[in-house]
Amino acid sequence: MKVLYIVGVGRSGSTLLERMLGAVPGSVNAGEVNAIFSRVASQDQRCGCGEPFSRCPFWCAVGERAFGGWSSVSRRMASLQPRVVRQRHVPQMVTGLAGATYRRELAEYVDVHHRLYRAISSVSGAEVVVDASKSTAQLFALRRVEGLDLRVVNLVRDSRGVANSWSKAGVVKPQSTDGSTMGTYPPHRLAVLWAALQLECAVLSSAAPHAARVRYEDLVACPRPTLERALSDVGLAPTEQALDHVGERSVVLDPSHGVAGSRTRFATGRIELELDDAWRSVLPAGARRVVTAVTLPQLLGYGYVGLRPNAPPTRAA
Ligand SMILES: [Zn+2]
Repeated sequence: MKVLYIVGVGRSGSTLLERMLGAVPGSVNAGEVNAIFSRVASQDQRCGCGEPFSRCPFWCAVGERAFGGWSSVSRRMASLQPRVVRQRHVPQMVTGLAGATYRRELAEYVDVHHRLYRAISSVSGAEVVVDASKSTAQLFALRRVEGLDLRVVNLVRDSRGVANSWSKAGVVKPQSTDGSTMGTYPPHRLAVLWAALQLECAVLSSAAPHAARVRYEDLVACPRPTLERALSDVGLAPTEQALDHVGERSVVLDPSHGVAGSRTRFATGRIELELDDAWRSVLPAGARRVVTAVTLPQLLGYGYVGLRPNAPPTRAA
């Protein structure tokens, strides 16, 4: 069972990347798997195919095969997940040094995911499941799933762009039926989170046998070579035809059953890829300075800012 796991900060284009990878023959995109138990099932959110989760034929078949139906496991996992998958529990997940209760609950959580991925793979017939959960804590938990061949893609977007996206108020949630809006985050706090997460990703990547980094900006500007490189880096080098759905600045997508994520999960047909760099004109100068200062080491490392004035951005290593 291969799982291609996307890790990164929210609002970095992960749904787009997930769907582009899920359209590779032999792969399936499942969306943000870690949201199934936290909100998708309980709120009956709409799947990428447009159906509510409880009526989507794909997820009904997955739930039936994995657990004999979703109802009992959904309730149990909704209470278990917040106790088990927490950033402060990462050391216990890595070392296994934890109290008996935590060890038992982690084992149960891991077993549920083992069955879940196996069912996704079996129902879809795909060898690779693309999971855009993004969370590093979830990734540490998944590393304990026996027989799960984890390949990790760290998706990174310029911290100023991410900060700008999270500072926008009044954006309606893609799954909203009552007009409720997406959460916001002040730029200085977002910058600290972004820097901390990228630091974790660097540690994770160095420990993983198969890991890649994708810059959102490269994915949009030159999607095909960016995906080719990422897939090769995670040991899944694409065949000549595997990326036929990816054009020079566009992608053609069939409907999928990805859950959670951005509005992009509903997009089908030919999609023109456009770089969202509105932050350059919209993000206030003060916020821009703070975010740049807090995230500077990584901005330099990923080639978002150059050491020489007017140096062109370099490709991510
Ligand atoms: Zn569906």
